Amino acid sequence: MIWEGEPGDSRSLTYAQLHEEGCQMANVIKDLGVKKGDRVGIYMPMIPEAAIAMLACARIGAAHSVVFGGFSSEALKARLQDAEAKLVITADGGWRKDKIVPVKDAVDKAIASDVPSVTNVLVVQRTKQELEMQAGRDVWWHELKENASKECPAEPMDSEDLLFVLYTSGTTGKPKGVVHTTGGYNLYTHMTFKWTFDIKDDDVYWCTADVGWITGHSYIVYGPLSNGATTVMYEGAPRPSNPGCFWDVVEKYGVTIFYTAPTAIRAFIKMGDEHPNKRDLSSLRILGTVGEPINPEAWMWYHKVIGNEKCPIVDTWWQTETGGFMLTPIPGATPTKPGSATLPFPGIIADIVDLEGNPVEDNEGGYLVIKHPWPSMMRTVYKNDDRFRSTYWEHIPPKDGNYLYFAGDGARRDEDGYYWVMGRVDDVMNISGHRLGTMEVESALVSHPAVAEAAVVSRPDELKGEDVYAFVTLEGSYDESDELKQELKQHVVQEIGAIARPGEIRFADALPKTRSGKIIRRFLRNLAAGEDLVGDISTMEDLSVLDKLRQG
Ligand code: AMP
Repeated sequence: MIWEGEPGDSRSLTYAQLHEEGCQMANVIKDLGVKKGDRVGIYMPMIPEAAIAMLACARIGAAHSVVFGGFSSEALKARLQDAEAKLVITADGGWRKDKIVPVKDAVDKAIASDVPSVTNVLVVQRTKQELEMQAGRDVWWHELKENASKECPAEPMDSEDLLFVLYTSGTTGKPKGVVHTTGGYNLYTHMTFKWTFDIKDDDVYWCTADVGWITGHSYIVYGPLSNGATTVMYEGAPRPSNPGCFWDVVEKYGVTIFYTAPTAIRAFIKMGDEHPNKRDLSSLRILGTVGEPINPEAWMWYHKVIGNEKCPIVDTWWQTETGGFMLTPIPGATPTKPGSATLPFPGIIADIVDLEGNPVEDNEGGYLVIKHPWPSMMRTVYKNDDRFRSTYWEHIPPKDGNYLYFAGDGARRDEDGYYWVMGRVDDVMNISGHRLGTMEVESALVSHPAVAEAAVVSRPDELKGEDVYAFVTLEGSYDESDELKQELKQHVVQEIGAIARPGEIRFADALPKTRSGKIIRRFLRNLAAGEDLVGDISTMEDLSVLDKLRQG
């Protein structure tokens, strides 16, 4: 594992070193009382210890629940509570966009009250700023590591034992804990990584995701490591002070396989071709993309400017729930079309159906479903089998006794059998490739005393793909003002994290509702996108609401 820190420091670990450090951390957390079946929260910057912590948990049979380091303390708290985590592994801080992100402070705030399950916090030293360590609870990794044995026998596990819980956004305000198990998940991430990236011994593979998302789990940690790949981990993000930092990493380490998100590609386009053009990118042989539909312009730029027209692009469609790639080209074997994730991975039986489960014609849009089980499918929603059943298996009724997995995405299949994923069909937004529920942002907004009601939709955004657009009605004693808008945006950042900051907040006297009181979101989506209203307005309770919103 090659690690590059944002300030330019670097480290590399051989497989033997990674194994030893993983065993040491496993021994340390065992001594802190963590056992097989317990849950451990991991809230870390992108440093090798994030992967080491995951491996340490897996080694002793404890389930990790990694929370993206960009989530706020409130969001962290909700996840630790649901997982009933016993331990949290974190760091003093991490570097992002030339600043230190004080992750340990967020942990302190999150567990200060209402997370009684957490008995210890294990802190990795990264940025070395002053920290308050709570006696009896907080311990330093570098201190405990000194006396920890480098041997720790792996806990025997059943293939269906819990490996990890990863929270993701759904259609309700509360994120759901997606459950993955040891056998199937490891098998499938191993296979998909091997075939989709055509990994060879001399490859240097780099996935730019964060370990807090499923892409980091499957394709920074489990898939690459189980294949014995050389994998690069990068701490920071492209930033105005160093717009060429990604290409520096490619050049420095001779990266051969590069995997990123369309939102990053669009940001690179904006930063200018001179940055990649100034670097030697000739080592690259395969490019990958994930997270959202890639627009053909971004695909072509990636192909020409980064890939020098010689690298196949693997557009991988998959989800937290699927654990691994579901639709993807096999590089060099599957002819690609810009914007299409091409075909199902071998063994995956996908289809596009209507709401009754009937297959639709070629090029007719419908719901993307998976018809047969696959090794790394999520096993349930943590502590909530009912939500698992209703969200994924009953949305579309079983056909002839066969259940269809409902992915929540709309798609069409063309005359060559190629899949074109169009985006979510539920109340889930995709902001810069990050999944976010409209209800989550609404709950954050209404928790502010000024807000009476909130309705959140997404609107198309050139850079982020989608952006958060919020309609808000105020409590009687509050007046509309730009300051209040800013305050509400900041409040959402505090409640969820910077990824959820609304691009626009619009005050309204009332929200458009049906006679039964349901907010009519499609009108709000039209208004947010500056389009004409589409659809039947006769079901609306009070038509004057729309006139006011249109004028506003
Ligand atoms: P997550 O579970 O956070 O990885 O988000 C999964 C969602 O991201 C999917 O349901 C899609 O809406 C979207 N997505 C991921 N990869 C792709 C892709 N290659 N093309 C289109 N949409 C994608």
